Amino acid sequence: MRDKGWSRVAPIVLLLWLLSLAFTTTASPTLDLAAGQTRARLAPVTTYIADPDGKATAAEMFTRAGRGEFAPLPGGNATFGFVEGAYWFHARLANLNHAESRWLLVLEYALLDEVDLYVRHADGRVDHFNSGDLVPFSKRSVSYRHPNFWLDIESGRPLDLLVRTSSKSSMQVPLTLYTPGAFLEQARDAQLGMGIYYGILLALLFYNLTLSLSLRDRSHFFYSAHVFGFGLVQFCLNGFAFEYLWPDWPWLANAAVPMSMSLAMLAMQLFSRDFLELPRRFRLGNALLLILASFHALLTVASTVLDYRIAVMIGTAMVFPGVAAIIFCAIVVARRKFPPAALFLLAWAMLLGGTIVYAMVSFGVLPKTFATEYGMQIGSAAEMIFLSFALAYRWASLRAENERIAREANERLEQRVEERTRELSEALQQLGEAHARLRENSARDGLTGVFNRRHFDQTFAPLLRQCLADGRPFSVLAADLDHFKRINDEYGHLVGDDCLRAVASTLQQNTPDGALVARFGGEEFIVLMAGADEPAAREAAEVIRQRVAAQLLPVENTALRLTISIGTATAAAGASIDAATLLRRADEALYEAKRSGRNRIVQGSVAA
Ligand code: GH3
Ligand code: MG
Ligand code: MG
Repeated sequence: MRDKGWSRVAPIVLLLWLLSLAFTTTASPTLDLAAGQTRARLAPVTTYIADPDGKATAAEMFTRAGRGEFAPLPGGNATFGFVEGAYWFHARLANLNHAESRWLLVLEYALLDEVDLYVRHADGRVDHFNSGDLVPFSKRSVSYRHPNFWLDIESGRPLDLLVRTSSKSSMQVPLTLYTPGAFLEQARDAQLGMGIYYGILLALLFYNLTLSLSLRDRSHFFYSAHVFGFGLVQFCLNGFAFEYLWPDWPWLANAAVPMSMSLAMLAMQLFSRDFLELPRRFRLGNALLLILASFHALLTVASTVLDYRIAVMIGTAMVFPGVAAIIFCAIVVARRKFPPAALFLLAWAMLLGGTIVYAMVSFGVLPKTFATEYGMQIGSAAEMIFLSFALAYRWASLRAENERIAREANERLEQRVEERTRELSEALQQLGEAHARLRENSARDGLTGVFNRRHFDQTFAPLLRQCLADGRPFSVLAADLDHFKRINDEYGHLVGDDCLRAVASTLQQNTPDGALVARFGGEEFIVLMAGADEPAAREAAEVIRQRVAAQLLPVENTALRLTISIGTATAAAGASIDAATLLRRADEALYEAKRSGRNRIVQGSVAA
């Protein structure tokens, strides 16, 4: 069975028709059904005549056919495009030696509005049948998507057939005779092919509709609308829509064709716009598709009120600029390095490829097999499957892009957190250092830089306790500058301060490691020496005394010498003595040193 699908309406049909003019077949006046033959195309024996005002009667036409006024079909095909009025077709059938007398005449095009069949028997009796999509579906001989009529062609009793058709859609009248068995076979094959095709379309429709809802993605929705519209166009053109959707509504059967056609185009344009990201990638293409989409939106609505012929002609004509604009945009975007556009073009190539195969079958270039005959269906199904893939691919690349952005944002955030953490820890360290400095400062004497009295008070007792507990000796030196009052009196307090700083520094430099030097008050210093026994204390005191005495302090024009008196007190290893007592003993020794002449060392008693 040849599917007279929508491409029949397309210019390739015109092309087909023009080319077929070159292959005009010779019409034989009578079709003889040969023995064993199960199907026969009527075209080779059909002649036709136009009836522009559609007013002629069957009787007139039988006469005119008899007078040879009918012409052979142009190129052997009953395809005329959009034409006014009625067309009459005449054919003579004979059955000389065929066992089968019951035949089904099928007009294999679904969209004709009116089909009248007049059968003139050998005895001159004329039967009249009518069909077409303006007649309810239930009136058909066989419940089948194409108009059909039972004929009894008995042996030796030829029939004269006169078929009158008129339609607001394209005029195509391919007539074929089938034995009941042959009709069953071809109907079954076609039904399987169609079932597979519409099955694919339905699956794509629901799959993408579900995706559009769950992903809240507009392009999936437009794509679903396109599959729906395109599927509905095919469903109408194949005659299924009239058979299954609106068998009792001939008006809708007609209006649905331009309506679904413009809906399919509208959805395809909106889909392409979204898919190819035209607003961002190709502004001119975006504007072009928006204009075309608006036009198709208008046409979708207008189809319900416009005259069917006008609507279907505009809709068909607009398919070409519409498809051209989409392919043009896809090529431009693909050249601008947008990978999904290449997939998109590939999908369209499938549809075009299918259409070309279909056309080649029509021209007889390719043999008619299941695959080639349904080239258009296979092509369009492949196109839609590919677009569905392309959509998924695009979705995946969008998601990958989003993930990359999120990952980069995350990395930036982590980097910032790291920076902040580092800054914070630096600040903390500085704060710690400042705190340590502050602590250190609070422990130091402002004038001399040695430990102050407060620190000495805090440290002395625990230090002594720990040292004795460790079984080691502990010595204390109490040192006081001699006649210091005089220096102040003679040179002033500032010079006195310089002297205090110089002596403190001498003390610091000449005490063994681990000794603690503190300013006890005024010009008196204390040196704590953990682990030092009496001889060690004496030696240290002696070094200090000599160094202070040897020191020359430059004052104004002369140099100044100072002396220091030191009293020591030692707690022997294992002694039990408290800090206050040990200090008092050192102080007593210092007092003794002063009393006995200054610039000397007096060793206090050793506590055992
Ligand atoms: P001695 O040999 O008996 O210790 O005699 P001295 O003059 O050192 O005795 P005294 O304790 O009577 O005098 C201590 C003087 O030290 C008194 C004060 O003027 C001076 N003095 C105390 N603290 C400071 C200070 O911080 N700076 C200065 N320049 N002088 C100070
Ligand atoms: Mg003094
Ligand atoms: Mg003093």
